[in-house]
Amino acid sequence: MISKSAVKITAAAVISACVAAAGLFLFSSGERRPSHILLVSFDALRWDHLGCSGYARHTSPNIDALAGEGVFFSQAVSVSAMTPISLASLFTSVYPDRHSVYTFGAMLRSGLPTLPAVLKKNGFATAGTGGAWFDIMLPGFSEDFDTLIPGDLGIEEQMRQYLRWLDEHKDGKSFLWIHFIDFPHAPYSSPEPFRGMFLDGKGREKSETVPIVYRPEGRMGIPRYIAIDEITDKEFYVSQYDAEIAYADHFLGIILRHIEKLGIDSDTLIVVLSDHGEEFGEHGYYFAHGSTLYDQALRIPLILKFKGSLPSGRVVATQVSSLDIAPTVLDIAGCGRPGWMEGRSLVPLLSGGRGSEFAYGYLGDFRVEEFGIDGNKAKYCVRGKGWKLIYDEGADKYELFDLEKDPEEKNNRYGEDVMRERLLKRKLLSWRKRLKEREREVRILPDFREHFGVKMKSLGYMQ
Ligand SMILES: [Zn+2]
Repeated sequence: MISKSAVKITAAAVISACVAAAGLFLFSSGERRPSHILLVSFDALRWDHLGCSGYARHTSPNIDALAGEGVFFSQAVSVSAMTPISLASLFTSVYPDRHSVYTFGAMLRSGLPTLPAVLKKNGFATAGTGGAWFDIMLPGFSEDFDTLIPGDLGIEEQMRQYLRWLDEHKDGKSFLWIHFIDFPHAPYSSPEPFRGMFLDGKGREKSETVPIVYRPEGRMGIPRYIAIDEITDKEFYVSQYDAEIAYADHFLGIILRHIEKLGIDSDTLIVVLSDHGEEFGEHGYYFAHGSTLYDQALRIPLILKFKGSLPSGRVVATQVSSLDIAPTVLDIAGCGRPGWMEGRSLVPLLSGGRGSEFAYGYLGDFRVEEFGIDGNKAKYCVRGKGWKLIYDEGADKYELFDLEKDPEEKNNRYGEDVMRERLLKRKLLSWRKRLKEREREVRILPDFREHFGVKMKSLGYMQ
């Protein structure tokens, strides 16, 4: 899955990391602070399908340009491949046992301040994507925003509202979170000219035929709700996913140009990332996420730009967690790091500091049998020093992967390396114990299943 040019990028990243270690680029956190913070997250965007990761297709000109002007963290991992868990950890910088979001519809622990809440206390006006979907899938989450822009208005109207909000807040301190909930999330349905951009047959020579299945989680087939014209060619759907990235990237470009037009680009900290990746059948799940913790689902792109203060064109190849994003934003904004946060600022990394030695991932127990979603029992993983251990609670099975030699996690080495296994297993079991201890405190939104069913039908997941 990694192209030759990605290998070149990796080499550049190593050189870049060495330069960082030499302390040639120092961000002085005491000097200049951003008046504006723009956080853009794309739902289900794979890190390795971007130009800045070395991907052969021209999917992401605006994201690539941003990476060229800022810092690209090429080894960033999310806390989860399930959207609510991932977003809850992104905004609170704590793991699920502390924010209580273990699955869909779980209420964010009341009284736990989020990133927008802390920024608000520091004088920032705050706006974010919200609306019915968030109220059902991640209840309690939207309360810390002054303004909510519904994520289901249609992209054109949403864009108008985002830009208008930026216009209205260009003179004060502002924080805007834009979540592209539909892009590149399935179904892949970008309009022309995006839709036809990658239908040139390139890459399709290695394609495989995959059956269309009535399983929304994509186990062993293309989920029926994303099928287009009964096509069963896997690479056709990859091309449509890539087209959606280009479509989403186009909207990012509009926002970035608007910031320039307002004259606030030098005064804006820009953060771009995704909540998790997407699987293309590497481990039996097609065009979906939320069922496994392999890197296709867990790794995310992460880019930070603050013109004149953060280095430009830097690639940081050290492992970082999505938990680190909120503390980093607060550090750069001069707001300090709240004591409850578990992540740490990435700013010291830019002058040779250490990344996250261990990063943890979690998938909640989620089954909605009445809607045909088999789902899964909980899964846990620990990722550290080039190795990763995954535990599948349903199958009571461990998998150990050497990420350097086997980045696609094809060869399970569990049982072959006792010393390494012992360390990672100890970490993973204490991580699991932590989560288990507070699992009973999870509160699911009343009537969640009913709301969920209506939403799934409206999205076409089921009939
Ligand atoms: Zn998501």
